[in-house]
Amino acid sequence: MDNDIPYLLLTPGPLTTSRTVKQAMMRDYCTWDDDYNAIVSDVRRRLVALAGGGNYTAVLMQGSGTFSVEATLGSVVPPDGKLLLVDNGAYGHRLVEIAERLNIDHVVVSLPEIQAADPSGIEETLAAEPGITHIAMVHCETTTGLLNPAAEVGKIARKHGATYILDAMSSFGGVPMTMEDVGAHYLISSANKCIQGVPGFGFVIAHRPTFEQTRGWARSLSLDLFDQWQTMESGGGKWRYTSPTHTVRAFVQALDELDEEGGIKARSKRYAENHRLLVEGMQRIGFRTLIAPEHQSHIITSFLYPDDAKFTFDAFYKAMKARRFVLYPGKISNADTFRIGNIGHVFPDDIRLLLKCVDEALEEMGVRI
Ligand SMILES: *Cc1c(COP(=O)(O)O)cnc(C)c1O
Repeated sequence: MDNDIPYLLLTPGPLTTSRTVKQAMMRDYCTWDDDYNAIVSDVRRRLVALAGGGNYTAVLMQGSGTFSVEATLGSVVPPDGKLLLVDNGAYGHRLVEIAERLNIDHVVVSLPEIQAADPSGIEETLAAEPGITHIAMVHCETTTGLLNPAAEVGKIARKHGATYILDAMSSFGGVPMTMEDVGAHYLISSANKCIQGVPGFGFVIAHRPTFEQTRGWARSLSLDLFDQWQTMESGGGKWRYTSPTHTVRAFVQALDELDEEGGIKARSKRYAENHRLLVEGMQRIGFRTLIAPEHQSHIITSFLYPDDAKFTFDAFYKAMKARRFVLYPGKISNADTFRIGNIGHVFPDDIRLLLKCVDEALEEMGVRI
């Protein structure tokens, strides 16, 4: 761990970024200037390439990841459209909240937070509910670390002629996948997850012919995805309204560092190794994981509290933070859990040190497991 880092964020984002990504922000850019707009156009091209290339286009949107999710649901579903939403975690639930706020007709396939989406259940709902035009699902449910079967659901969407929106916020860049692989018409992610940039904008990779049909459908001005895209296309990288210039510059550095690492495959391998070491080490200490291994992503891992009543997350959090590791509380309703992220500028040696610190922290707390 760098000595100038006060602590490592083992969280689902914002996450620990490299020093060079942070340094890339030490310059001011004019949001209208060609220098900057060329950078934006390049970022858009590189995102499409990372998603496998083909007849896709990318649009960037100011705000945190949720703004891009809301921009997508609010812009690409026609006024008489109907959504099928999968809800098996907080982010799936957020899709439902967005549809409710925007008054978009929708049906929800609800599942327990530890259960992956079941493609045949989705197909049954499609058969039973007339008029579904769009399906939206979260890929990696960051709530728990559970991975939904994105490609299987993509196949069903194709079969039924539904447009498929995938919230791949916490998986894109950290799990190898192309738009063709997952069958998505829209894939949403943000700057501060697996690409390892700093927070400030999200992005949507869109199937161009599908996206081109959506003019005038947006339910919001500032979150009008189509208008934003048109401005970027015709203005050579221009954003509508002030753009997060420093964040974009840091993102370019982050993309360079992703290439240097060997691309998404190599990054995915590092995250998987972080995850493997973490789970093995934590199990050796006596912790149990929440999600069954076959549905567990290598993005973030949920652990159950130990039975010893001396264990409180608050005390554990403080003991770990004193040792320069910031963990994440759990977010689910029916079990006491905490989460440890495997993503960001975090390496197997950091995980080894983390495990040593977990041992020390438990001993300091007098917890036996
Ligand atoms: C991080 C994340 C989001 C967006 O969260 P913000 O706090 O708005 O950046 C959405 N979906 C998933 C699955 C996420 O992991």
